[in-house]
Amino acid sequence: MNTRYVFVTGGVLSGIGKGVVSASIAKLFQFRGYKVDMIKIDPYLNVDPGTLNPVEHGEVFVCEEVWRFEPARGYEFAIAEIDQDFGTYERFLDANMHPSHNITSGQVYLTVILRERTGEYLGRTIQVIPHVTDEIKRRIRMIAESCRPDVLVVEVGGTVGDIEAMPFLEAIRQFRLEMPPGYTALVHVTLVPYLRTVGQQKTKPTQHSVRELQSMGLQPDVIVARSDDYLTEDVKRKISLFCNVPPEAVISDPDLEVVYELPLVFERQGLGRYLARLLRLERVEGDAERIAEWEGVVGLYKSPRDFVTIAMPGKYTMIHDSYISINEALKHAAAHQGLGVKIKHVDSERFEEDPGLVEEELARADGILLTPGFGSRGVEGMIEVARYAIERGKTFLGICFGAQLLFVAFCRYVMGLKGANSTEVDPGTPYPVVDLLPEQRGVATKGGTMRLGAHDVYLVEGTRVYEAYGGQKVIRERFRHRYHIVLDYAVKARDAGLVISATDAAGRVVNAIELAGEAWVVGVQFHPEFKSRVVRPSPIYAAFIRAAYEAKKGGK
Ligand code: GLN
Repeated sequence: MNTRYVFVTGGVLSGIGKGVVSASIAKLFQFRGYKVDMIKIDPYLNVDPGTLNPVEHGEVFVCEEVWRFEPARGYEFAIAEIDQDFGTYERFLDANMHPSHNITSGQVYLTVILRERTGEYLGRTIQVIPHVTDEIKRRIRMIAESCRPDVLVVEVGGTVGDIEAMPFLEAIRQFRLEMPPGYTALVHVTLVPYLRTVGQQKTKPTQHSVRELQSMGLQPDVIVARSDDYLTEDVKRKISLFCNVPPEAVISDPDLEVVYELPLVFERQGLGRYLARLLRLERVEGDAERIAEWEGVVGLYKSPRDFVTIAMPGKYTMIHDSYISINEALKHAAAHQGLGVKIKHVDSERFEEDPGLVEEELARADGILLTPGFGSRGVEGMIEVARYAIERGKTFLGICFGAQLLFVAFCRYVMGLKGANSTEVDPGTPYPVVDLLPEQRGVATKGGTMRLGAHDVYLVEGTRVYEAYGGQKVIRERFRHRYHIVLDYAVKARDAGLVISATDAAGRVVNAIELAGEAWVVGVQFHPEFKSRVVRPSPIYAAFIRAAYEAKKGGK
């Protein structure tokens, strides 16, 4: 096995873009024609992030496959909901990531504890070292063996010094010791703040976090320094001296308008060459054609000829990361049409107190994207948004919950079904037009139990959705839901001007709806944003942006 490993750790602060750094490093190896793969380690104790609040943790990403995680004989859990960094990896690398590549402390401890119960360690005391660390190393090796990448980039979540991350760092220390020289590299990502009062970039936090890493037996090979601007030569020399890495291994990670440019910024600083040499890879230089291709794509994002404004009402607007795949999908769709997108996040809960705000907030947008979500808080405001789109013929795309609420608004305000709702929001509604999927009725446990992963979607000819997908009859998109638009009601709604644009193979699950007539108002039960890529926008997002731009030019 010749797989090389690049471990990426973080220091000083969380949220400094370690995911983007990791994906960009992987991209450098793609520039050299190598097969890359990624692992993300999340030190929290949840088995997967599926049960986490998006406001606390950001978006939950859904991958193509559902993984049957079997921690011990007789136990099985479905995992398809993974960390949002996998969205970054998929977008940068244009590759599908497998859910088993998101290793959490929860999974590791569960495995070790259940194995103890099934008698696998009979007679022994189970300890963090070696049992937990062995399990971590086993998982990493298992992925390398099954995927056989040339380079496996392993991002360690959290920051060095977190108690939860200790076993992982210890496992990495052992792993590096066990591998021959030239097979592993350690990249440490830190923050170099600029202090305006003294007009200087400060290296002390970096020095401290590297010292912390060293105290655990880990010496970084490369330091990537997140900062407003490029590091000065002076600062690079200082970091080099105090952190024990050569100056050419101190790399700037400045603020960028387009994050997709980061691999190019790294390439220009020689990081690809440096890592390739360190890992004793044959191809040290990046392939000019591959690099130029990426430069061309990034160029689309850097020089839009015009803008579209998209309003995004939702309930998790406090942090924009909650909708990161949607934000990026909108950018991909716009960039490939020579456009930039201005996204206006709007808190839908405010519409409940003052419905007059809907018009005020949304009139100037060229299109409205109604977001996914769960529970009942803020939902009446979201329904008001859908009503506004239906009544004004405003360009509209509803995603999952957003599609369900479009249907609720249609039933209430076009068909006159007063009090129509989703049973998730109002269990006692007289018109349960959105209800639990039949197979969800017996499901009591949370975590990996929704309808997840990619499923075939059958498109209905002649619809906007069919058109958006270029006339394909069957597509595959990713899902994450328990509730669905009830077919009987959707069929009844047809007479009032609703079109069922997609279903599952059996025609049982309504997968997309739209309004008949002039307005571009569409709702999809799936999450097309999870398959949108920097190089290849999601077709339905592309059609939405096109319609929004036409509305803008038409003065609608
Ligand atoms: N809460 C809805 C459901 O479970 C929608 C989920 C979502 O938007 N991802 O069906």
